[in-house]
Amino acid sequence: MVQTKAERIKNTLRRTRERRKHQIPRVYQLKLQNLSKKDEEKLNRLFLEAKWFYNCIVADIENRLSGNTWKLKEVEIKTPEGLEKREIKQLSSHMRQGIVERIKRSLYSLKKAKEKGIKVGKLSFKSEVRSIPLKQYGTTYKISGDKNRVKIQGIKKKFRVLGLHQIPKSAELAEAQLVKKPSGYYLHVVCYLPKKEVLKEIKEKQVKEPVGIDLGIKHQLTLSNGEKFSWYIPETERLKKLQKELSRKQKGSKRYQKIKEKIRREWEYINNKRRDVQSKVISYLKKFLLIAVQDDNIKGWKEGYFGKQIQNTGIGGITARLRSLATLIPVVFVDRYEPTTQVCSFCGNRQKISLSERTFKCQKCGVEIDRDVNSARNVLRVALSRLADPLKSALPVDCGEVTPVEWVYSPR
Ligand SMILES: [Zn+2]
Repeated sequence: MVQTKAERIKNTLRRTRERRKHQIPRVYQLKLQNLSKKDEEKLNRLFLEAKWFYNCIVADIENRLSGNTWKLKEVEIKTPEGLEKREIKQLSSHMRQGIVERIKRSLYSLKKAKEKGIKVGKLSFKSEVRSIPLKQYGTTYKISGDKNRVKIQGIKKKFRVLGLHQIPKSAELAEAQLVKKPSGYYLHVVCYLPKKEVLKEIKEKQVKEPVGIDLGIKHQLTLSNGEKFSWYIPETERLKKLQKELSRKQKGSKRYQKIKEKIRREWEYINNKRRDVQSKVISYLKKFLLIAVQDDNIKGWKEGYFGKQIQNTGIGGITARLRSLATLIPVVFVDRYEPTTQVCSFCGNRQKISLSERTFKCQKCGVEIDRDVNSARNVLRVALSRLADPLKSALPVDCGEVTPVEWVYSPR
């Protein structure tokens, strides 16, 4: 039977969707290495063209988003001297299509936000584009593993990359992004790993108990089994010094730009450190059978008294990461209004406890327990009681036979 092109594409998509059901996405970061001056110029040009192209569409979004804009070989840009034409020669048509799709996605989320009653503006021009979508593996980019090289569409030279060893052999490579950071150029590659393999890895280290988490200020994470995690990664002295220096320079001058670049680099360093700690914590939590956490109002904390302290721990990202962890192990989110600090986790007695009291002393059963541990135990108790209804069947009775289920139980 002869297939038309459209049928072939449809079939490929269907097969991919089928495969994805048994796979788990992971993003790996590869660093482009040994870049010569010429390489840097080429990459710079690529990002510059991406910016021109992006801004060209945003300038007349109604007419340019659809149709054949992505075929444009020349765009007009605004300069102090008026409009000028610029040639697009490095940015491939696939990359351009990727940028168009990205703009469509942004518009869609703006629309969604608006529907929710959130005040939104319009898409604005960018002074810099920091990542370029590389959609199809094999077309926009390709990796030759044996030589640690990556080929990017439109650039003849194959770049040496660092970090390929992290990607397992069984991984299926999908889309990627070429990313420009203060410390250099990177490739963020989305890989699909066989679910079975990932789950096996988790299962080997798994303990047969569920855990409750209390998110806090003093200790970022307190577990119901008494374990505590605290970290504090403040802004560096160097950053403060650079910021002071920047304020003394004339805005827009060469020195100003140079220091600004140094500041970006310092931020990258600090954020990497914060993310690193988070990754370690999340990785540790994977061993539990089930995770229960209160959907805390971290944003509320940020705006209030604890602002700086929260930022310096980077705890804000933890709930998001727990949500994505839910594709591997059950994560239950307990409503933030559920009383967890004022209830005795042993007898259920409810009593007042002030912010300064670090120990919960039950007036009824007499138990004395760390305030945060008590909270974490309550979070777990509430979560498990919630499971008692229709979702109970989702949690395996035999703890040894955990078949992780894909859901996040959110009471809202
Ligand atoms: Zn009690």
